[in-house]
Amino acid sequence: MAGEWILDKNHLSYWLRQMRNEMELIAPLREREDIVFKSVEKIHEIVLDCPASIPSPKEFLTPQFEPMLKKTDKIIDLRDNSKRVVFGVRSCDISALRLLDRFYLNGFKDPYYEARRKNTLFISIVCNVPDNTCFCIGLGTGPFLKEGFDIQLYDLGDRYFVQCGSKEARKWCSRYSFLMRRPGKADFEDQYEVELSSQAMFRKRISLEYAQQMISEDKLSDGFWQGVTERCFECGGCVYVCPLCTCYTVFDRAYDNETERIRVWDTCFFKGFTRLAGNILPAEQRILRTKRWFYHKLLYYPETLGGFGCVGCGRCTITCPGRIDMATVVLKMKDEQK
Ligand code: SF4
Ligand code: SF4
Repeated sequence: MAGEWILDKNHLSYWLRQMRNEMELIAPLREREDIVFKSVEKIHEIVLDCPASIPSPKEFLTPQFEPMLKKTDKIIDLRDNSKRVVFGVRSCDISALRLLDRFYLNGFKDPYYEARRKNTLFISIVCNVPDNTCFCIGLGTGPFLKEGFDIQLYDLGDRYFVQCGSKEARKWCSRYSFLMRRPGKADFEDQYEVELSSQAMFRKRISLEYAQQMISEDKLSDGFWQGVTERCFECGGCVYVCPLCTCYTVFDRAYDNETERIRVWDTCFFKGFTRLAGNILPAEQRILRTKRWFYHKLLYYPETLGGFGCVGCGRCTITCPGRIDMATVVLKMKDEQK
């Protein structure tokens, strides 16, 4: 109970403004046809009834282009310690953070990720109307979460049901408790109603356990994977939009008086990925690269990080020109057993 509040919608803008006084406010904004998470200047331009943003908000923890070090007469650490609040995130993207944390922080801690993660507060919103491409419902990664969020909002029409899941979240709600009230019976009933109606709207219900079993028991023929491979344009789109892909590469860029070390997203679909000295290409054959992405997400992620490398966000379905996105391929597996 201590972490639950009701916020009248009229007060949201004020609350966000107060947060923005202390940290950068990031939220979904419309940019031509797309929804993108960006720094917000005008709060009224935030778009909340929106489809999946492209790319996912993981870019605020592990940016597509990240300067790490600069060398002049000394070495300067470019770690980003700025404070941010990312507002309007979907539940599936919050679920993805749980695995990203394990990837970047278990064992060796990635200091760049760690600095951003420590300084970023996420406010997620339960999806009242999921997209046609979403399938988080079958994976337990959305459309609402029971744990693992900072602040989770339910849109109850004229008000938000606010749940605080972290210490930082409680601080922000307690400090502005004069804007809020404690929930009553009708609020809990409406919250439950939102959960039920959202769950009922999903069109796709997909089991990744089934796909995992098919792969681990080697029930898919080479012909199946060959068919998937032939449809791949090797554009890397699926990897760049996925909230759980983590491949990156690092390079140095030299100027007259300084050198910069930069990290950029990479993709395991590219032939040159993990190229070794002597121009050795560990996965030169296309079929190996295609299999690697699916195996990684369905087999190796659960083995090493304790969860699938997919949260059912549906972004690869929107993006893939070859129509071999996760949902499509997993559904095809049912017909393609050896
Ligand atoms: S594999 Fe596709 S559906 Fe799954 S999380 Fe990544 S982009 Fe979303
Ligand atoms: S988006 Fe589709 S076509 Fe592009 S690399 Fe990924 S699987 Fe291949």
